[in-house]
Amino acid sequence: MAQGKYVGLDLGGTTINVTAFDGENFLIPGMHEIPSLVSSGPEVCLNQLRMAYQAALNLTGWSHDEVTAVGLDTPGPASAEGVMSSTGGTNFGHAGYGHFDMRGGLSDLIGKPVSYLNDANAAALYGHRATFGDDPTKSTVSLIIGTGLGGGIVVNGRIVVGKVGYAAELGHTRLPGDWHPTEQITAHCNCGRINDLESIVSLTGIRLNLLPYYLPRFPDHSLAQMDISDAAKKVRGLAEEGDPLGQIIFRTQAHAIAAHIDQMINVLDPDAILLGGGGVQTSEAFHDWFLNEIRNACTFREEQADLAILFVKDGDMAGARGSAIYASQQYPAD
Ligand SMILES: [Zn+2]
Repeated sequence: MAQGKYVGLDLGGTTINVTAFDGENFLIPGMHEIPSLVSSGPEVCLNQLRMAYQAALNLTGWSHDEVTAVGLDTPGPASAEGVMSSTGGTNFGHAGYGHFDMRGGLSDLIGKPVSYLNDANAAALYGHRATFGDDPTKSTVSLIIGTGLGGGIVVNGRIVVGKVGYAAELGHTRLPGDWHPTEQITAHCNCGRINDLESIVSLTGIRLNLLPYYLPRFPDHSLAQMDISDAAKKVRGLAEEGDPLGQIIFRTQAHAIAAHIDQMINVLDPDAILLGGGGVQTSEAFHDWFLNEIRNACTFREEQADLAILFVKDGDMAGARGSAIYASQQYPAD
């Protein structure tokens, strides 16, 4: 199989991460990023993407003519073809983004085919590849945990995008009524649903729901004196240090993740569940603790008891790398 040359561009609220992929290896080590300037509107942002593409050529020594295709990802919501939603995501509030065709605009500007994924799907595809390579028999479910909770489902090596691009919005799947064995938590999500996965397993879920629920049990806790947004950001560090409030919050998240995994293994019987995103970039020791909490809350069939639950590394580069992998799948070199 001839190898192509692919540039991956991960457009975020403040920066664009850049990578280059030759079908096998990523050629730009570490992070390379330039400002995304998204608040200046889509035309300025597109020009930053063009500069990021040029940076990839400079860093690899590739000529423009050699590049097979470009992979782009942005925060959702956007259509499967990369047309931004009318509502816009965080930092994409500029009126010009409503129904803006980011993918098509970039393709026109640089004169290359451009593939599109939302950022969670791109990160999921990278995590899948990092775990199983290009094995066409493997399937995974990824939970990308950060401010919110993004998902990605890869079946037989291919990301599931869906009819309008909204497949694997796992954060907004509702938890079963018995997801927690002892607590009765009513958790609100920004999407309007009650007790969906993101309402528990995300930084926003900690701020809106879990801290307000558990903090009254710890009236003398240092977080009780703080602004709730600042307090929410401290919970993960406290949990890592063994703080009882921090741990009860993460144990509650473990119950929600376990209930979600139970649904996913009954739908897909995947090879692995992958956990990624900024919300789980913690020490190995905390990963072990959290994994143990999740496994203890899971009820597996005997045949599925060895299901792998793994933490994905290289979180900051996952979007750009997953985008480049997707471009290589959509536009194979001939
Ligand atoms: Zn939701």
